[in-house]
Amino acid sequence: MSADPLSGANQPASDLHGEEAAPTEYQYNGRFYEESMPDIKGIDPGSDGKFHCWEEGCNHKDDGRRHLMKHLRTHYKPVKCPKPDCGRRAAEQREMIRHVQSCHVAWANKQPKLKVQEFFCDLCGAPFRRKDYIRKHQRYSCPIVKGEQRE
Ligand SMILES: [Zn+2]
Ligand SMILES: [Zn+2]
Ligand SMILES: [Zn+2]
Repeated sequence: MSADPLSGANQPASDLHGEEAAPTEYQYNGRFYEESMPDIKGIDPGSDGKFHCWEEGCNHKDDGRRHLMKHLRTHYKPVKCPKPDCGRRAAEQREMIRHVQSCHVAWANKQPKLKVQEFFCDLCGAPFRRKDYIRKHQRYSCPIVKGEQRE
């Protein structure tokens, strides 16, 4: 009997053998989920011709609505981490990419568009996130290089 992971309907929760029901993770398709931002189309500039941030304690002002919106994102952090148990939020998509690639590497590597690029030492096969790490590794810590130097 193989359970179909897509139809959890006929599977009572008590059958989950102590395992927690999978939290609702989503697949990355080029954009992380973002909560909607306030609509600023109707916002008018102040008497100084600038658009003012309305967050308490913030004196930020910008020349245009789009700039203000970008600034507001730093307050609202609308981009949500795809891991529901993480709760991390970010102002920009870019930031979230960095977050999942460093904190949820296994998940990121399952997403074709987020896969952390790996480079391998051609001597011992050790994986590295960046190509330039390999040279450092071969100079200081590659076991193959170390072994050769000993001979
Ligand atoms: Zn502000
Ligand atoms: Zn996270
Ligand atoms: Zn090596």
